[in-house]
Amino acid sequence: MRYPKDIEIWEHAPGRRLAEVVVRLRNKKGALAKCSQAINDCNVNMLTGFFTAPGKADTATLSFFADVTDSVSGLAGLKRSLLDIDIVESVDALAAEDGFMVDRQHFPVQWAGRKAVVMRAEALNEMLNRLWEVFGTGAATIIDQMAEAMGKHSAREIVEDFGAKFAASQLDELLGTYSALGYADVSLERSKSSDFPIVINARELFECGTNAKQRQHRRSAFFRAHLRGFMSVIFDSVFDVNEVQCATEGDEVCSFRVTLAETAPASVAARLSGRTERASNL
Ligand SMILES: [Zn+2]
Repeated sequence: MRYPKDIEIWEHAPGRRLAEVVVRLRNKKGALAKCSQAINDCNVNMLTGFFTAPGKADTATLSFFADVTDSVSGLAGLKRSLLDIDIVESVDALAAEDGFMVDRQHFPVQWAGRKAVVMRAEALNEMLNRLWEVFGTGAATIIDQMAEAMGKHSAREIVEDFGAKFAASQLDELLGTYSALGYADVSLERSKSSDFPIVINARELFECGTNAKQRQHRRSAFFRAHLRGFMSVIFDSVFDVNEVQCATEGDEVCSFRVTLAETAPASVAARLSGRTERASNL
């Protein structure tokens, strides 16, 4: 089961008094329960938000939009109550009277401790499709190179954070980052007898989902190259990645067959000549 993950961007509740509250607190067991109790005692309704408490950090952050309309003590009362809690270090709060407010208290956006930019899938697709319109089949090379570089970059950061040996042993988990970041609902099929080839299923892949809706029979160029770059750094090898079934061809999921290239130069040649070919089998 996968659940949607909403990023706190704005809240819109016409006619309600809204607030955005950021609580910094000691990263201790029960800290969140104490805050929740205080928020409830103030008759404040917590709306969209997030809680960040990395295992190694001393300080945690609870951020949320809140509806303070029914609170007698209001936002000032909530702030006082939270500051009275022994594990709370600071409380920052902004109010909005018009029932609409944008998150103005968080920057930079980060994932895995590094700056990130959140982009809607449709916007990324628009960029890719503009490349196809302007450059025709030449777009394949641009997207391929760009996505491979991005995949390699992500993998290098993972290797830097966890070490090469550990990263290579955690492929099943690491492929989950594609789901965690919204590219696709990814699952892995692996043969019992050997590490490779593997088949990676990408359900609702951002790239092909949109193309399928627009009845464009254009297979993934971005994800396929990103995956190739990612795998090449994680395993320090050369890989071929082929999309063997695709939502744009009416298949339920897009599937990518990842094979170890026999030799690096041959694989590069095969990639360049067979970029848009459909692989015949698994
Ligand atoms: Zn596809």
